[in-house]
Amino acid sequence: MSFKSLGLSEPLLKAISKKGYETPSPIQAKAIPPVLEGKDVLASAQTGTGKTAGFTLPMLHLLSKGPEQRHRPIRALILTPTRELAAQVHANVKEYSEFLNIRSAVIFGGVNQNPQVNKLNQGVDVLVATPGRLIDLENQGLLSLKKVEIFVLDEADRMLDMGFLRDIERIMKLIPNKRQNLMFSATFSKDIKKLAYSILNHPVQVEATPENTAVEVIEQKVYRVAKGKKTNLIIKLISEGNWKQVLVFTRTKHGANKLCKKMISAGITAAAIHGNKSQGARTKALAGFKNGSVRVLVATDIAARGLDIPLLPHVINFELPNISEDYVHRIGRTGRAGAEGQAISLVSADETTYLKGIEKLIGESIEVEIVEGFEPDPNASTEPIKPGQNRNQGRGRNSNSRNSSRNSSKNSKNSNRSRSRNRNTNSR
Ligand code: ADP
Ligand code: MG
Repeated sequence: MSFKSLGLSEPLLKAISKKGYETPSPIQAKAIPPVLEGKDVLASAQTGTGKTAGFTLPMLHLLSKGPEQRHRPIRALILTPTRELAAQVHANVKEYSEFLNIRSAVIFGGVNQNPQVNKLNQGVDVLVATPGRLIDLENQGLLSLKKVEIFVLDEADRMLDMGFLRDIERIMKLIPNKRQNLMFSATFSKDIKKLAYSILNHPVQVEATPENTAVEVIEQKVYRVAKGKKTNLIIKLISEGNWKQVLVFTRTKHGANKLCKKMISAGITAAAIHGNKSQGARTKALAGFKNGSVRVLVATDIAARGLDIPLLPHVINFELPNISEDYVHRIGRTGRAGAEGQAISLVSADETTYLKGIEKLIGESIEVEIVEGFEPDPNASTEPIKPGQNRNQGRGRNSNSRNSSRNSSKNSKNSNRSRSRNRNTNSR
């Protein structure tokens, strides 16, 4: 199987080989042909399997074959749940369209809208957007979606988790009824099927089985440790292992900042990425992490969602997530595109229940190790940390949003207030 045999045009093949891809990933091989045929497609495959190119390449092919447009109305709209993802998808669109006469732009909240509006005014064929900013600009009459031919919902499962259902419904009303719809998701839940049913028109459904993908090449390990000794243990592991690029997850923004400071005092370059950081600070942290000048990136779940950090060797859960699925998403940051990775979790007594839940979900028990001098506290309570107990740690208006957005995605009758709050979490 080659990209050429999928029927993609020469300028795209050139960009693909410049990017260094040799063969299509399984989800790309399955999704690209029906998209090229103009069909609606519902695709699901694990994180890190190349879904972005799965919709971007055939989309660009179709757009470039269409009639030349003088005013360049927005002809393709890609919705993503977070700013980071939007920026990432846009970077991909730009790379793949390098040899085509296609213009693209990205818009998201948290930054001044004027540069985005200026860019839109110059005419763009492909727009990548987060829902909030898109609706804002449309409301102000600064963009029109009336000429959209291709609509893509990326990371659809995340969109629902983050409470974007109503926003998606609003956006659907702004684009023409006759259009091609593509929906990509890492998981394939009942809610996703329901959403697909309402958006897609006789979709072709493609799925890549997790055979030989990310999770299998990830080595997982648990260190049982006393809660108060976690910071020193993580510093020891990173220093003695001489690990160069480590993504660390904490439960709260406050925890991320605190750990980051401790790392820096221990002589390890580190940066934190979460919803209370400005867009500039986050972009800088991520860029530093990618180019190797920042060794450790400390992140909260939503901030890290979908970040494309190729070949990331180490992921550490400083604290286990209280939602088991988040564990799978977190460790999906390592072992990407077939590379090997290591996922380590520091587990204290009060996280025992979470560990059991995770092991049940992944269907295996994770190897446990105890490091001398960092033994777990035999007298510590195994009472789980309740999400609410973190309330005064995650200060700021979004501190409880994780739970409210989770509940609201299950409960369609969520209030306006909780919805607008959920919108703000796309940065966490
Ligand atoms: P997903 O959206 O499924 O989580 P991405 O689209 O972010 O995955 O891709 C994950 C990684 O795999 C990226 O670094 C991307 O550049 C790389 N990748 C995508 N397609 C291919 C391919 N055909 N060959 C090699 N690497 C690829
Ligand atoms: Mg993706």
